[in-house]
Amino acid sequence: MTSEKPVVDVTPEVIGEPNILSQRLAALRRQGKTIGLVPTMGALHEGHLSLVRRSRQMCDVTAVSIFVNPTQFAPGEDYEKYPRVLEADLEALASAGGADFVLAPSPAAMYPEGFDAHVHIGGVTKRLEGECRPTHFDGVAVVVLKLFNMSGADVAFFGQKDYQQAAVIQKMVRDLNLQVKIEVCPIVREADGLAMSSRNKYLSAEERAQAPVLKKALDLAKEQIEAGNRDTADLKHQMRRLISAVPSAAIDYISIADPATLEELDSVGGPAVILLAVKIGATRLIDNIVIP
Ligand code: AMP
Repeated sequence: MTSEKPVVDVTPEVIGEPNILSQRLAALRRQGKTIGLVPTMGALHEGHLSLVRRSRQMCDVTAVSIFVNPTQFAPGEDYEKYPRVLEADLEALASAGGADFVLAPSPAAMYPEGFDAHVHIGGVTKRLEGECRPTHFDGVAVVVLKLFNMSGADVAFFGQKDYQQAAVIQKMVRDLNLQVKIEVCPIVREADGLAMSSRNKYLSAEERAQAPVLKKALDLAKEQIEAGNRDTADLKHQMRRLISAVPSAAIDYISIADPATLEELDSVGGPAVILLAVKIGATRLIDNIVIP
């Protein structure tokens, strides 16, 4: 067996204690270094690594957090079975050129005994994921605000893959005057169009073969819009028909919305975003496409 030698530029310091990360990054900020933060839940793939590369391009120091955040999962969701593979994540980071720090805290380090704070962002959280997973964005907001505060990041990197999440974070930054710049990076996909996701690991071989239907439905709507179809009811009907032909698929939502407010559009008269959430077997996948 031949093994390819990874190109290791930076071996990260792996830190479990948020206060230690804060001290390290504060010292670097005092030297005038800019800090990039890449929040993740681990099981790193090329989507995550694209954010890390972008951070290294834009910032002097890159910190990646790897934390399966319990507060953003509802009872009955996949918190327990979510993949936790720190060793493999460190190897993936090394093969992508590395990071300076990895924060990999325990739940108790992030939420010590007595923790009782809540962050609720209104407006853009109400529909779509917020409707299907009512406690989800409060959990995301609280952990991301903690990560911003403990890192003092100048720039934080998020994926367009989680379009609504990025919109919620941007709104939190505006509403609370946070001094961090948000960079939203393009969706990284498998060769057959499936958006990369840590949850793709849950798919059986048969489900995996069917999962690209999400991207096919988004492409169908995009082509129709480019050909002049403005009728969102018709566009959604066509997407629904394509997806429903796949035996393992069950649609949670299909939305054609305003890219800034995520309010539903009756007709496509300007920029739009098409978002969907579909269960393939027991695995819930989300995807989206922006229509400029
Ligand atoms: P997660 O570990 O799923 O919480 O994702 C961490 C970050 O990586 C989020 O900002 C995601 O939007 C981003 N991300 C996940 N999958 C992709 C992808 N396929 N392309 C680009 N960014 C992604």
